[in-house]
Amino acid sequence: MAEAPFVIVGGGLAAAHAAKTLREEGYERDLVVVTAEPHRPYERPPLSKDYLRGEAERTALFPVEDGWYADNSVDVRVGIGAVGLDPAAHRLALADGAILDYSKLLLATGSEPRPLSLPGSDLQGVLTLRTVDGADLLAATLRASARDGSGRIAVVGDGWIGMEVAASARDLGAEVTVLGGGEQPLRVLGPRMGELFAQLHVEHGVELRRGAEATEFIGSQGQVTAVKTADGATVEADAVLVAVGAVPNTGLAAAGGLTLRAPELGGGVAVDVALRTSDPDVFAAGDIASIPSPHYGRPLRVEHWETALHTGPHAAKAMLGSDEPYDRLPYFFTDQYDLGMEYLGFVAEPDSADALVVSGSLDDREFVAFWTDEGRVVAGMAVNTWDRMPEVEELIRSRRDVPRGELEAFRG
Ligand SMILES: Cc1cc2nc3c(=O)[nH]c(=O)nc-3n(C[C@H](O)[C@H](O)[C@H](O)COP(=O)(O)OP(=O)(O)OC[C@H]3O[C@@H](n4cnc5c(N)ncnc54)[C@H](O)[C@@H]3O)c2cc1C
Repeated sequence: MAEAPFVIVGGGLAAAHAAKTLREEGYERDLVVVTAEPHRPYERPPLSKDYLRGEAERTALFPVEDGWYADNSVDVRVGIGAVGLDPAAHRLALADGAILDYSKLLLATGSEPRPLSLPGSDLQGVLTLRTVDGADLLAATLRASARDGSGRIAVVGDGWIGMEVAASARDLGAEVTVLGGGEQPLRVLGPRMGELFAQLHVEHGVELRRGAEATEFIGSQGQVTAVKTADGATVEADAVLVAVGAVPNTGLAAAGGLTLRAPELGGGVAVDVALRTSDPDVFAAGDIASIPSPHYGRPLRVEHWETALHTGPHAAKAMLGSDEPYDRLPYFFTDQYDLGMEYLGFVAEPDSADALVVSGSLDDREFVAFWTDEGRVVAGMAVNTWDRMPEVEELIRSRRDVPRGELEAFRG
């Protein structure tokens, strides 16, 4: 009897690159990709940036070109969720009732927006952003608003997606109010760097309400017209983007009895350094994978593009028998207005501002910031400063005490 295929569950970057790597590494047997979305796997960062603004084509979202799957005999089943997993029997149950046997399985099920269940959440115009279809709907709403010149959008949440959409919406001419839960946006950056982004948005005309808790969506004839906040204020809006974080899609792993990571350690599916789950024939990659970090000595679950890009191929090689440890430092980027930023590393306590050292000009927004812990660099962020990440990485990996003056002089 022919051996059961390798199966990948997921429709994002990790799934696409895992499939590609399996073929590149010489895996010639049957390969199936199952994705719940009605599209072949695609990447998401443009959904809040150039794609949302209508500056990038849909085709640019696909990391693997049209035709590659067919040319490489990869059976991509779109629009079908996997709903059950039996690791002992090596079986996956699909939403259409089919049962798929596998010999090795990769879970790359990504994340979905954290729900915000408030009165009025089901009104039309209360949107989230995770999928290309969601981006099309948001883009159409923004364009319609911009056309009549009076578009108002409220963004609930001041994390990366909320702030990027706020920037894109301003670029498109909408009036934007951001309701942020904290004193500064982008909590992960700590107060000083969060404030830098706050000022950037305020300069571009965003109304940033700090410490604002949305309590209700108000509507008329089924369509949202405003958001109410805990202090009794009302923010009028033609559309509301709810962007209050993401939750990993661990349902399938849980159904299969795989070990999950504790929420206080970031949640997700627990994997070893080779990206193998608690079942030796099931692997996990991308947003859902909680990976032991040799450098930071704790598991990390990283919801960023670069992790999906590299863990997909890494897991594919592990499916083929590699035991190589995954040891990349977390990396992410953002683009907002004319600010481009790259960040490398991990900071457990971003609020401890005195551990921050800046090289370059905050006023010109051209600098590199370092987070340190007892003199050692644990993370670095380059703002409108390019090609310096390899040196930042060297500083982090060296674990040496770096004098403050050396860091201040870093940018030259
Ligand atoms: C709007 C937006 C902007 C972003 N911008 C940036 C950025 O600027 N920089 C950055 O570093 N990161 C960014 N990210 C994060 C980045 O896109 C994610 O980290 C990345 O998409 C994770 O890839 P993934 O392959 O793990 O999963 P995902 O891309 O989430 O894909 C998971 C796929 O699996 C499917 N799926 C889930 N469960 C099942 C199931 N049971 N059966 C079948 N299919 C299933 C889902 O429908 C989805 O298609 C952004 C994300 C969003 C949404």
